[in-house]
Amino acid sequence: MEKEFDAVIVGSGPAGLQTAIYLARGKHSTLVIGSPKASGLSMAHVVENYFGIRTITGKEIMAAGMEQATTFGATLLDEEIVSLKRVADAPSKETLNFEITTSNGTAVKAKTIIIASGSKKASAGLPNEKTFVGKGLGYCAACDAYFFAGKEVAVIGSRDYAVHEALELAPHASKVTIFTQGSDPKMTEHSLALLKENNIAIRKDKIIELIGSPFINSIKVKQADGSETVEPIGGVFVAVGTASSADLAALLGAHAKGNYVEINRDGKTNVAGVFAAGDCTGGRLQLATSVGQGANAAFAAMEFLRGSAPTVDWA
Ligand SMILES: Cc1cc2nc3c(=O)[nH]c(=O)nc-3n(C[C@H](O)[C@H](O)[C@H](O)COP(=O)(O)OP(=O)(O)OC[C@H]3O[C@@H](n4cnc5c(N)ncnc54)[C@H](O)[C@@H]3O)c2cc1C
Repeated sequence: MEKEFDAVIVGSGPAGLQTAIYLARGKHSTLVIGSPKASGLSMAHVVENYFGIRTITGKEIMAAGMEQATTFGATLLDEEIVSLKRVADAPSKETLNFEITTSNGTAVKAKTIIIASGSKKASAGLPNEKTFVGKGLGYCAACDAYFFAGKEVAVIGSRDYAVHEALELAPHASKVTIFTQGSDPKMTEHSLALLKENNIAIRKDKIIELIGSPFINSIKVKQADGSETVEPIGGVFVAVGTASSADLAALLGAHAKGNYVEINRDGKTNVAGVFAAGDCTGGRLQLATSVGQGANAAFAAMEFLRGSAPTVDWA
């Protein structure tokens, strides 16, 4: 494998792969580092809201995107980045401005870096959680609420993010209950009022097990007094917050807003030559928006590599 690239992309989800498709097709040497299996999209059992495709699995879109990126010349490397370093004081199109090292010890240099590392959902810590992903267990109410029409649904979380997810589910589900897993709710007055308005109950009880085969049909719940009950349920959503992508950005000196990488409308961070796209930048956390941002970041990176933005008179 080459050791020097015009662009190294952190993350092989839809945002990273879309960025790679533009860059590689534009004849820029492009390396995508990341695990396709770890992409949020790989966990989507069915996608029905992506333009032009009636219904498809996340794995199918991922496979097509990877094939497309490699066809245009991008290299894909299934490794985890452990170090990102800016080595040029004033990054320019002439110089290899960044050094990237993976957990396998692979070291490469790049003129530009595009961060597309997703927004890892925090786990609820349930023993059999992984078994039920896509089988009644969700992490994105905006994506999957539609599939829970008429069902009773539980949301795990104690903050406003859990309220957001519960409100997405409310128009579809027959009943929505938030389980704070023993914590006191840390929600604004506004959130609490919205919950009341939408008949969404909050319980301090703890869901300790998901039950069903292959789909969840009930939950084991531990009450404050230590007693346990098994209760029927049609689905469970985890909304305990999102883990940070901002740490990777911080290694390069790029600013973060909370857990997310801060970008302008062109996908540029505050560091010249560093761009970001997809779920790691916050916002809607959807396939369509991630792909759009991937295209945006690719154009910005290509302008950097050319040394200027093209002058186009759209009038
Ligand atoms: C179960 C589920 C169902 C969904 N359903 C839908 C749906 O129906 N419709 C819809 O529009 N959206 C859906 N989504 C959301 C959609 O999948 C995401 O918005 C999309 O995948 C975000 O793309 P991304 O490229 O930004 O991040 P991701 O797809 O999450 O990819 C992130 C990439 O970064 C890599 N990475 C992270 N850290 C490192 C590191 N240190 N080194 C190297 N690589 C790293 C990961 O390995 C991964 O390859 C769903 C998500 C889930 C989880």
